[in-house]
Amino acid sequence: MSTRQKTGRVRAGESKPDGAASVPQAASNRGQAARARRAPQTSQAAGLPQAAMGSGRAASDPGSATSREGAIPPTTPALQRPPRKNPVDRTRQPTLPPGLRSRTAMGLAAAAAEGRFALQRCARCDTVQYPPREVCVNCLSEHLHWRDISPKGRLLVSTTLHHSNDPYFRERLPWRTGTVQLDAGPMVVAHIHGECADGEAVRMALKLDRAGQAVMVALPPKPSEHMQDDKVIREMSSDPKFRRVLVTDGKCATGLAMVPALLAAGATQVFIGDPQPWRRSAAFEALLADSRVKAFDLDVTDGDSILKVAGAIGGKVDILVNTADHERDGGLMQFRDVNVARDMFDVKCLGLMRLAQVFGGAMCGRAADGVNSAVAWVNLFSIHAQANLPARGVWSAAHAGALSMSQSLRSEFRPAGLRVVHVFHGPLDHEWEQRTPPPRVAPAAVAKAVVQALRDGLEDIDVGDVAKELRERLADNPKALERELGVS
Ligand SMILES: [Zn+2]
Repeated sequence: MSTRQKTGRVRAGESKPDGAASVPQAASNRGQAARARRAPQTSQAAGLPQAAMGSGRAASDPGSATSREGAIPPTTPALQRPPRKNPVDRTRQPTLPPGLRSRTAMGLAAAAAEGRFALQRCARCDTVQYPPREVCVNCLSEHLHWRDISPKGRLLVSTTLHHSNDPYFRERLPWRTGTVQLDAGPMVVAHIHGECADGEAVRMALKLDRAGQAVMVALPPKPSEHMQDDKVIREMSSDPKFRRVLVTDGKCATGLAMVPALLAAGATQVFIGDPQPWRRSAAFEALLADSRVKAFDLDVTDGDSILKVAGAIGGKVDILVNTADHERDGGLMQFRDVNVARDMFDVKCLGLMRLAQVFGGAMCGRAADGVNSAVAWVNLFSIHAQANLPARGVWSAAHAGALSMSQSLRSEFRPAGLRVVHVFHGPLDHEWEQRTPPPRVAPAAVAKAVVQALRDGLEDIDVGDVAKELRERLADNPKALERELGVS
């Protein structure tokens, strides 16, 4: 197909452009912006409810976040602790927002998964365009690159929808949407945070919705105390506040750090697994002084112990943080047999599988059950899951296997809208890496990053300088990295 033909197709598709079919639909460049001002586009198939923007019965719900130009936006009220669920009440079954996207539009999801605000920028004419397309709408160049751009913009107009034919949004009405003019050029239709006022500055973010797809969200320019409690953000995030969390190994360094971080983030309860009840740990016992913390004998290599714990709390776990690991030095030839290797794979790979088989179904069933629904599953990996470190070659392989399993789990959880978060860390400052030269990542830094990823609704994060550097080098030249790790 010639460039001209491609162009014709793109232009013809302006009202429902390729790739943007499901991103909050919007005019994308300067030319389109003018057209959009005259005739706002509707937002069907856009990850937004099917209600005409700017039509009929929107806008003025007295108690809603809708505001007139110049009005002082309301402050987000603090989320109150949800009451105990009445077992007779229905459990809301998971539904997903519209989730079809073109391959081109997946660039948005990649940015949203890491918490970046990236759009296509033309290498030839520098136009920033949205929705994503295969060619530049200004100069037809195919040299489009995903680049982080300024998230600043202005909310032109917003409306509160009280009707939707979409099953997902029907359950969540009223829902606020609006049109934002980005400083970078494009005009976008977005989900709107309650603290944003019409005509005022906003900060845009790409967030993953429950279908795992990227959507535009307009946030207030300055963070406020309870802004995370806003309905739109709560729906997109996996905030531990008022949720119950299971940390599978509470005795390892990351597990010990995870518990106070989760409690500080407002978790209602933290259940901690103890894989070695025979081993005394003062730090572990200190955690139990808090009445919100409860310990269980839990060994991820023992299916019976997992079943026993699930029998007690299986229906209560809203977030599962899998900290279980079995780290040992050595490549393939260091060991005389495969026993140590088997232990590493048993904990990291099969342990994950056993946990998913027992806890996964119950969590999926409660994934849409109100503001404290089951929401996320966090797996911790060494960054060497992505690039093998021969000095710990077998352990790296166990992490690589677990990463692959976790990608499968992510796909299996998707119909329920349950998020799987991958946390990649550099060498940890713990007993099994005492001889690893710095910089090493403090377990508390991992815990802090996990909580932040949950609050921001992220899917993929790197913690520590080593992990971040390896990620860049992996993208730049994986073969060179493989060679360098082999000689270190
Ligand atoms: Zn261009």
